[in-house]
Amino acid sequence: MIDEIGKAALALLEQQKIPMDQCVGVGIGVPGTVDRKQGIVRYSNNIGWEDVDVVKEMEAHLPIPIYIANDADCAALGETIAGAGRDYQDVIMLTLGTGVGGGIILDGSIYEGKGIGGSELGHMVIVENGEQCTCGRKGCLEAYVSATALIRDARKSIGKELTPEEIFSMAREDEVLKEIVDSYIRRLGVGIVNIVNIFRPQLVLLGGRIAAQGEVLTKPLSESMMQSCFGKNRSEIPELRVASLGNEAGIVGAAGLI
Ligand SMILES: [Zn+2]
Repeated sequence: MIDEIGKAALALLEQQKIPMDQCVGVGIGVPGTVDRKQGIVRYSNNIGWEDVDVVKEMEAHLPIPIYIANDADCAALGETIAGAGRDYQDVIMLTLGTGVGGGIILDGSIYEGKGIGGSELGHMVIVENGEQCTCGRKGCLEAYVSATALIRDARKSIGKELTPEEIFSMAREDEVLKEIVDSYIRRLGVGIVNIVNIFRPQLVLLGGRIAAQGEVLTKPLSESMMQSCFGKNRSEIPELRVASLGNEAGIVGAAGLI
């Protein structure tokens, strides 16, 4: 995989007639647990990597400084640099896709803690002994508000495999699906309020496939922040927006690592 990416990058440089000495560095976003200092991906569930020395292997193709970070962190950074979060310095982004990715940007930079494996916002437990999560715990936010979880809940209730888009659209007329969507939004609200109570960012961003639902999500979620965040109207309630860069967010953010 690294070979393919390296070759594609070199081909792109050649096609654009950009010499290597004009490149200041390479930024790479990778799903999974990333050791940024060592340049190693410790573990990636999605692509089946364990202790892959990404920086060292990529240097064989691109002999310039290389930086890596978790892809959800890169997406949050990209949105803060050039997307829906560009007017803010403290931004938290939740990516609602197959799983739930979390990215924390504080003072304009990725915050991941000093130890490896932090900022996994999708793996905060919101229901004790709840649904099984892929991480091994039960009741994580991801086990309720990922696209996978929404599809599962619909299947359980109506015995049919629907896409998230179909579920949201049919929920306008179907009582059972409406309750599933309402409960999805309530749980997402619990997760967002928890995050706000800890970090109190200026902006919460929603990305990923489900965020495309727009106001259907942001309106009730803004209300639940107003009603449930600590301090309520005596505190500062963050803005809530849908991310604007799509897949580009991770690319912009990875470049921002340099
Ligand atoms: Zn989990």
